[in-house]
Amino acid sequence: MKPLSQLSLDQARAIRVVLTDIDDTVTTEGMLTASAYAALERLHQAGFLVIPVTGRPAGWCDHIARMWPVDAVVGENGAFYFRYDRERKTMRQHFWAKPDELKQNRAKLDAIEREVLATVPGSALASDQAYRIADLAVDFCEDVPPLPETDVDRIVAVFERAGAQAKVSSIHVNGWFGDYNKLSMAKTLLADVFGIGWDEAKASVVYAGDSPNDEPMFAAFPLSVGVANIHAFAHRLKSKPAYITQGHSGEGFAELAALLLEAKSGQAR
Ligand SMILES: [Mg+2]
Repeated sequence: MKPLSQLSLDQARAIRVVLTDIDDTVTTEGMLTASAYAALERLHQAGFLVIPVTGRPAGWCDHIARMWPVDAVVGENGAFYFRYDRERKTMRQHFWAKPDELKQNRAKLDAIEREVLATVPGSALASDQAYRIADLAVDFCEDVPPLPETDVDRIVAVFERAGAQAKVSSIHVNGWFGDYNKLSMAKTLLADVFGIGWDEAKASVVYAGDSPNDEPMFAAFPLSVGVANIHAFAHRLKSKPAYITQGHSGEGFAELAALLLEAKSGQAR
């Protein structure tokens, strides 16, 4: 991971699309700061496509797609994308699974939930679980006292024994049935909605993240950026981001935005 300051303005100038994780990448200690929100807004106003790619639930993503200065959102670790068309006032929703599959998967996730809560004391259902459609989120750090890594591994193991996928974010273990992740749904969104194929995406996208559930994105996009707090997870990462910011969380995201905006304004001169 090289310092972000080593990214040249020429390299930054190729970027047109900003994909970003939300928790602990845009937010800071659980809050969306004015500077991080302003960074999103300035990027959007400058003509970048701004697309949060998050593990957060469908209920939140409806709000984000409608009200934040973004072009679309990928939620529940790639279970869907939402794109709000502001002119037509319509929400375009695309789910990886069909409605009947979502229903069957929910019954299987309910069984996993019972097993995790019974066998890993101190874990809890994430408080945003009620607003989720496709996944199960187990809290190990958000509203519960932080659990040791061995417990996080035990939660992951319950999902995997049941044939589910499980990914560790900075606050939750998210698990789901289905062969998708943040990367596959981001690719689908870029192609379906914005007509950006994979070769073009590799050259024009930057991805910002902070934890193991961002790994598929770090691995796929040549220009990937970790905010400084990723150091805490670095030992769990097989694929690390190419660059790392100096600032933590939202400050780090604002640092990336400032660099992209500087590169773009230089281009205009
Ligand atoms: Mg995160």
